[in-house]
Amino acid sequence: MDERKSERIPMSQAIRKDVARMETYAPVKPFDALSREMGRPAEDIVKLDANENPYGPSPRVREALAAYPWYHIYPDPQQTRLREALADYVGVPAEYILPGHGADELIDYLCRLFLMPGDAIINCPPTFGMYSFDARLSGGEVIEVWRREDFSLDIGAVEKAVRESEPRPKLLFLTSPNNPDGGLLSHVALRRLLRLPLLVVVDEAYIEFAEGEGSVASWVPETPNLVVLRTFSKWAGLAGLRLGYGIFPLELMEHLWKFKQPYNVNVAATAAGLASLEDLPLLRERVAALKRERDRLYTELAAIPYLQPLASQANFVLCRVVGRSAAALHRALFKQGVLVRYYDKPGLRNFIRISAGRPEQTDRLLQALASL
Ligand SMILES: *Cc1c(COP(=O)(O)O)cnc(C)c1O
Repeated sequence: MDERKSERIPMSQAIRKDVARMETYAPVKPFDALSREMGRPAEDIVKLDANENPYGPSPRVREALAAYPWYHIYPDPQQTRLREALADYVGVPAEYILPGHGADELIDYLCRLFLMPGDAIINCPPTFGMYSFDARLSGGEVIEVWRREDFSLDIGAVEKAVRESEPRPKLLFLTSPNNPDGGLLSHVALRRLLRLPLLVVVDEAYIEFAEGEGSVASWVPETPNLVVLRTFSKWAGLAGLRLGYGIFPLELMEHLWKFKQPYNVNVAATAAGLASLEDLPLLRERVAALKRERDRLYTELAAIPYLQPLASQANFVLCRVVGRSAAALHRALFKQGVLVRYYDKPGLRNFIRISAGRPEQTDRLLQALASL
């Protein structure tokens, strides 16, 4: 035993070099720990920092989970029932649909399916962080085409980046509505980008909150280079259960079936997804209520001299903070039991993002702001 000790090398030396060099991911604090830290019971915390649905899941989800008889049996690797229910909901045949352990898992699958070290994606920041995170985990390069100051996409710059980058990027990630600003990608712009020689991934995590041209999921069957990602986390209140899905061209589905973890989606998430799809009128009422709160939030924030909110088609409002520190504002709200997301990084200097909540939560936020 002791003699062998000298042969030992630190295991960290055996880890992939690119991973060993990566920075540690700042974890999200668990809600119960946060409640202790804030010295407030969970019910007293106004959590508007992660775009979660304050109404929670449909009551039918709790019933379905309580009644589910087969927790000891492995899930259906093909998710046949859920995919059929999703086909009705999305309006695309089940063969195009692949559920995932959150939409996040599908972003990871796409990166690992396409990227070898040295391959590249195009990312359009400020946007959701998982595209660049997962691309780098696969050893991929991230080519950044920044959005304009108003957060609109610079289509010409994306086209130029695709034409001029060597080797040619393989994936383009777009988010509509975009997180963190809530702006939509127009169908005209998307049609133009689909002419590019790469796979275009449109993340529609918030599309249920949007008005206008609507989802592009129905384009997938006739568009071989389009993938659409969706999730139950926001509109259906299932963020903690982890359930997303993608609509993929059949050519990709063939490979994803070989590639995915057989039991990636667990039976609880599956039962919850099915129960949600059976309770659409209620969930749609809640979505409508959240949209009303988003619009009220926007109007109220616009009346505050040091805040400049952006019009949003999602369940949150991004605000530029002018003439005072967003970090200090974030801290002051935290002390009053109100959590918002704060940013201070390139493209998002001195911003806060506030999720739409229940009317009484908006009231608490506005009272807290008024008292500062
Ligand atoms: C929240 C969010 C997701 C995450 O979806 P999950 O199904 O919870 O993994 C994906 N994309 C965007 C843009 C998001 O904001």
